[in-house]
Amino acid sequence: MRIVRTTAELRDHVRAVRADGGTVGLVPTMGALHAGHVSLVEAAAGRTTSTVVSLFVNPRQFGDAADLTNYPRTEAEDAARAGAAGADVLFAPGVDEVYPDGFVSEVRVSGPLTERLEGAHRGPEHFHGVTTVVAKLLNMVGPDVAFFGAKDAQQVLVVRRMVRDLDLPVEIVALPTVREPDGLALSSRNVRLSADDRARAVAIPRAIDAALALLAAGERDAAALLGAAAGPLADAGLTPEYVAIVDAATLAPRGTVDAPSLLALAVPVGPVRLIDNALLSPVPSDAPVPALSGAGSTGHAVPPTPEKG
Ligand code: AMP
Repeated sequence: MRIVRTTAELRDHVRAVRADGGTVGLVPTMGALHAGHVSLVEAAAGRTTSTVVSLFVNPRQFGDAADLTNYPRTEAEDAARAGAAGADVLFAPGVDEVYPDGFVSEVRVSGPLTERLEGAHRGPEHFHGVTTVVAKLLNMVGPDVAFFGAKDAQQVLVVRRMVRDLDLPVEIVALPTVREPDGLALSSRNVRLSADDRARAVAIPRAIDAALALLAAGERDAAALLGAAAGPLADAGLTPEYVAIVDAATLAPRGTVDAPSLLALAVPVGPVRLIDNALLSPVPSDAPVPALSGAGSTGHAVPPTPEKG
């Protein structure tokens, strides 16, 4: 397992892999690796010859300075964990390597994909920061395949849109959300929850499960499904920033789940803001859904690719 800090050194590695006929996978992360990240690294290692895990806490996607300051930084443990999961390079550039002096460029996906949900609450600048750094990482590494988590479903849609719009030569793979045994989605921010907040946070997967159970019982009305999701949150004394049912490809609000939809929520719990989502399929979960790719078995699934690309 090598730790690489410069693009030049990374490109030497990638050139050598390609010279031997190999392929390269990239797993972009902000570190503090957990089992969710590990699932992406294992998938990358299973599909490509060389797996590069990038570790970069991107200042441009943080609106909140305290969130950036408090973001956990655990590089040595991350290197060990990524290596054990099958990565051979940890690319951990400094801020100056990614944003050299005089940096003034930006990659933006505009419109509803970046303006709704997270974009409405954190500001679309959050996603402009994400697309700028992901475009940079894709260019720095030049991977054949890049792996992302459905935990950040909107991010997957935005990155896929950018890759398609700009004809970036990379395949984007999205993988299901990895959860704690009680259902809470793994997140690097979970370590900042007190024991009491951690106990209350389980209301988030319970809210999702309540909506999924009602959906499975035949309910298709979004307001009714949202009403079911509201119960567990209220019982735990949590006030969500948003709970929404939107079209799974466009993020347009949906009144009825008669097409693949996304239940997405953001909930402040103590000092942290947690997000989660689940795919709502209009057909029973045991029937095949032709348009969907990579759906998990738990009902917490991967958003569909909006179109080929
Ligand atoms: P982050 O380090 O939070 O920027 O996340 C890096 C990648 O890991 C992103 O593609 C996330 O969507 C993904 N990820 C984060 N949490 C999970 C999880 N619980 N399950 C699967 N993937 C995840």
